Amino acid sequence: MTENPLLEVENLEKHYPITEGLLRRQVGTVRAVDGVTFEVRPGEAFGLVGESGCGKSTTAHSLLRLEEPTGGDVLFDGEDVLACDTDELRRFRRRAQLVLQDPNSAFNPRQTVGDAVAEPLRVHGLDDAETRRRVVDDALERVGLDGADADSYPHEFSGGEKQRISIARALVLNPDLIVADEPVSALDGRTKADVLDLLDDLQDEFGLSVLLISHDIDMVRRFCDRIGVMYLGQIVEQGPTADVIENPLHPYTQMLISSVPSLDPHASSAVVETPSDELPDASDVPSGCRFHPRCPAIIPPADVTLSREQWLDVVSLRFYLEDDWADARSARQSLPVTPTNGDSPTNSAAEIRAAFDLPATLPDEGVEDAVTGAIDALETDDLEAARQRLAEAITSVCERESPELTDEHASRPVACHRYDPDKPGDRETGIEHSIGGD
Ligand code: SF4
Repeated sequence: MTENPLLEVENLEKHYPITEGLLRRQVGTVRAVDGVTFEVRPGEAFGLVGESGCGKSTTAHSLLRLEEPTGGDVLFDGEDVLACDTDELRRFRRRAQLVLQDPNSAFNPRQTVGDAVAEPLRVHGLDDAETRRRVVDDALERVGLDGADADSYPHEFSGGEKQRISIARALVLNPDLIVADEPVSALDGRTKADVLDLLDDLQDEFGLSVLLISHDIDMVRRFCDRIGVMYLGQIVEQGPTADVIENPLHPYTQMLISSVPSLDPHASSAVVETPSDELPDASDVPSGCRFHPRCPAIIPPADVTLSREQWLDVVSLRFYLEDDWADARSARQSLPVTPTNGDSPTNSAAEIRAAFDLPATLPDEGVEDAVTGAIDALETDDLEAARQRLAEAITSVCERESPELTDEHASRPVACHRYDPDKPGDRETGIEHSIGGD
């Protein structure tokens, strides 16, 4: 596809201030969307995928100006959306329509389906009731319903039919772009597939561009031409869907794909060992690479000589100690220890090592000294010293420096130091990833 993009999003930001006290002094910032760049071409389906809370819905709402972005640029058919006045914004919204996740909350129960579908026509100045009715009947038929359904009320329809009605409402203004925010996540299996097939058919028939927001990598795989993978307010990898799914480069994408149950019933899903399972808070983003506290491929310092498993176990101990503990005693007492001796845990050095699968002695002398020193400090209730011993010995480049989105692979930008030619990382991450089926 060589046409100019229909939608260009450049460094989009949506930050929310965190305020405190009567004077509402700003004490922090939630970086919900933090420098997101992508484009959607005419007739293309582009998917934004990532876990709940990664900022993908806020990205959609910000680019449509349902929420005002705090930075960046949005161009639609070459027009600067963020500089639009009221009339221009109305024209933009006519051409870019949103389909929401929950069809049950999308309608006024006292309004007929026909009135609900006709509402955008009224808002945009189509006053003739007969013409409106014709357009509504046509839109309902396009989504596989009947013109006569216009006289019924929303509660008379199933969830899947309500989502079809939502899509009909988005279509009545003949948009160029549909932004579909988790459009099938509230639906069950077969209905989900039917609504997706409908979107697919409409896209082909009318040459629509679609921006699909989803946490479901299997769904974007089936529907999208290209995808962008979002993590904590940023895109970490993007490219043609088949390339990203078959050969994910970023460790986060690899993890997402490895967690999707394979469609091949004979294949087993991989289990990925990670330093931490929790998605960090967007008001307190980790330093360097935002994914580093969860990354199974976090890069060790060049002089560390441990196996990948040993390295991850040491990193897990380090990040455990970095958690928000009141003191060393609470950190020790919360450890998932198994008593090595007798019935009750004593939180001895051996038990602490066992809780992190650390052997009695690590083969790397420098790291072994740091681990021993940290555990000694923990036993003498000096949490800060324990943290410092490990930080001095094993701070990763991934914690210190934020990776830029590279364009090394032309159509496959990826934000990971493993793809930075100036960094020491080996590209082999050791994460097993595959997704089966067609
Ligand atoms: S930069 Fe480091 S922490 Fe981030 S994804 Fe790459 S290897 Fe993992």
